[in-house]
Amino acid sequence: MKAVRSITLPRRVLIGHDVLDEVGTVCGELDLGGSLVVAYDKGTLKAAGAKVLDVLRNDGFTVTAFEVTEGGPPDVDALQNTARDHGAIVAVGGGRVIDVSKAAGFMAAIPFVSIPTAASHDGIASAQASLIEEGQRHSIAAVPPVAIVADTAVIAKAPPRLYRAGCGDIISNFTAVLDWQLARRLHNEYYGEYAANLALMSATMLMENADIVATTNEEGLSIVLEALISNSVAMSISGSSRPCSGGEHLFSHALDSFAKRPALHGEQVALGTIICTYLHGEDWETVRDALACIGAPVTAKEAGLTDKEIVKALLMAPKLRKRFTILHTGITEKAARRAAEATGVIAGGGR
Ligand SMILES: [Zn+2]
Repeated sequence: MKAVRSITLPRRVLIGHDVLDEVGTVCGELDLGGSLVVAYDKGTLKAAGAKVLDVLRNDGFTVTAFEVTEGGPPDVDALQNTARDHGAIVAVGGGRVIDVSKAAGFMAAIPFVSIPTAASHDGIASAQASLIEEGQRHSIAAVPPVAIVADTAVIAKAPPRLYRAGCGDIISNFTAVLDWQLARRLHNEYYGEYAANLALMSATMLMENADIVATTNEEGLSIVLEALISNSVAMSISGSSRPCSGGEHLFSHALDSFAKRPALHGEQVALGTIICTYLHGEDWETVRDALACIGAPVTAKEAGLTDKEIVKALLMAPKLRKRFTILHTGITEKAARRAAEATGVIAGGGR
């Protein structure tokens, strides 16, 4: 008997120059009610939050402003309480604001609208909320945004480093899918062909268009935004983050837990993708070259990490989650070092 599948997807996605002006229209068309909470933090208030507040008020909505501070569970609780009598949470962020809004909206059963101010990771559209509690990053299951309004004029002004990290998060689908296939072969794990191909397509498209993407103009930005949103569709269809999160993501989570100065999520998964592609025996050089062309870090040094931290994270990664990946195949310290050196991610001395 086939298991029942339940797929939740965003109902409206708007990508383009100055689409922030349309946020009220989108909320109206989706019948989100007359009162909304707009969540932001100090940085995103300037980037787009103030404009969103203006647009919504001018369109006749009653708007409550909510500032996210730390981005942890206290913020989630406070936003949940604030949002109770409102029709929706409009999240203007920044990973932190989006994650807090996603979690609060899910717990209070209130839809949230995602207004990304940067294209730095696929959390802008996904169902997974990632929260930091006592220094540890936790992923909680929520629902995807009911709508995404991605204004390329706003996102183009974000530091290019964020956008390049977003490219890393998309290219990582390559090893996430290899890991998924390995788990199917070795452990008969459920494998969703459609979701896997969708995720692979985004990674391939980005690698093939690395030169356009590298220009960081609004055309490149649209490709990246579409791919990030497509990631969330792939995850929603598969019912898990499998198509977009494998060993390279566990490697990044490990770094987040102990590295002195963790790099951005997408930067860390970029390094993890190069190493995991090598471990899978696939063409890691093409992956590395595409990342380098885009301007994402391809060495520990470029990401501000130490060689020691890279090796430690590779060893810690499989302990973080049972989800089977190439890093769960009994990688020793020597092997981890060897793979990181062979791919040039760490300098080493043995090459
Ligand atoms: Zn990711």
